[in-house]
Amino acid sequence: MSNKPKVAVIGGGVVGITVAKVLQDQLKNVDVTVFADKFEQDTTSFIAAGIFRPGTSFKGPTAEITKKWIDDSWYFWQDLLKTPEALEMGIMEVSGYIFSQENYHVTRNHLIEDLVPTYRPVTQEELKLGPNGSKYGSFFTTLKVECGHFLPFTEKIIVERGGKLINKKIESFASLSDFDLVFNCAGLGAKYLCNDHDLVPIRGQVLKVKAPWVKTAFYGDYDTYIIPGLNGIVTLGGTRQYDSYNLNYCKYDGAAILERCCEILPDLKNSEVVANKVGLRPHRIPVRVEAELINGVKVVHCYGHGGYGVMTAPGTAIDAVQKGIQLLRSSTKTKL
Ligand SMILES: Cc1cc2nc3c(=O)[nH]c(=O)nc-3n(C[C@H](O)[C@H](O)[C@H](O)COP(=O)(O)OP(=O)(O)OC[C@H]3O[C@@H](n4cnc5c(N)ncnc54)[C@H](O)[C@@H]3O)c2cc1C
Repeated sequence: MSNKPKVAVIGGGVVGITVAKVLQDQLKNVDVTVFADKFEQDTTSFIAAGIFRPGTSFKGPTAEITKKWIDDSWYFWQDLLKTPEALEMGIMEVSGYIFSQENYHVTRNHLIEDLVPTYRPVTQEELKLGPNGSKYGSFFTTLKVECGHFLPFTEKIIVERGGKLINKKIESFASLSDFDLVFNCAGLGAKYLCNDHDLVPIRGQVLKVKAPWVKTAFYGDYDTYIIPGLNGIVTLGGTRQYDSYNLNYCKYDGAAILERCCEILPDLKNSEVVANKVGLRPHRIPVRVEAELINGVKVVHCYGHGGYGVMTAPGTAIDAVQKGIQLLRSSTKTKL
């Protein structure tokens, strides 16, 4: 009989898959099973452009923990960016402009200004690249992670190391009482698993267009963004509709997004739309990375990353895995 600790991860989005991978990185002697009712293209993670640019409202339980999650995430992605497989994993460098006609503060970002290689005010010449009437602007360099590549790549590693991926909806933590430890990375699904009323969807709609000539990201007011990606596919956004559960494509939102993006790059109007996508961001303040004993089952929660779960998955995963290993050490006789 195996004496490896049995660990379940609920969630096949970027958070669950990253937690499973980080756990295997840190514990060789562990049996990991990822349960999810949706994998890869059916997850919210798959829709995200995946840019490393947190909103300034992104929050952990303290300012120090928030910053640590962001810094740890940045260095995790930087390490992968330096590997020969970076593009295969969907990780690439990107630079971009943020413009505003109205508010200087939206062009600043205290969470990453000291972290990314460049974050500076735009010149008067560069200000002309923004929508008409832009008064403020910043230029920055960062990276992005496309989950369409990162999820399958990482799932393969998890399975090669002996992990399992099981397509199944988990109805309660009690149903996983056979496991020594459970990570709850269910995204918005945690609302129902934990009866958590603080977890709220923020609806996001984007267009994916073919525009290989776009090499730089642009942000404008009213949640307008243009983010270039792999294979010439550019993400145009967006919407941020609080407490909306509507997963249907809205043609009015689509038209408004295109019009706002064309104010920045008029040639986008001729680009081919390859997909219209809608996703519900799992928003919670603070993001929940916390251990809890639920009906005798040891659970570490890791959910509620809102609009920033791709970029912050590693930092929160490192924290969650550390909490999980402490729980395992306190309860198993097996040497970990
Ligand atoms: C339009 C849009 C643009 C975005 N852009 C960015 C961006 O540029 N950068 C960034 O960092 N983030 C971005 N995000 C946010 C990002 O997509 C999310 O924060 C992230 O995907 C959350 O990951 P997750 O793994 O928690 O959730 P999900 O990807 O939703 O995964 C949740 C998983 O849990 C599973 N699950 C849920 N309940 C159960 C259950 N009971 N039993 C079994 N399985 C269950 C689901 O099947 C799924 O596999 C964007 C989001 C949207 C919608």
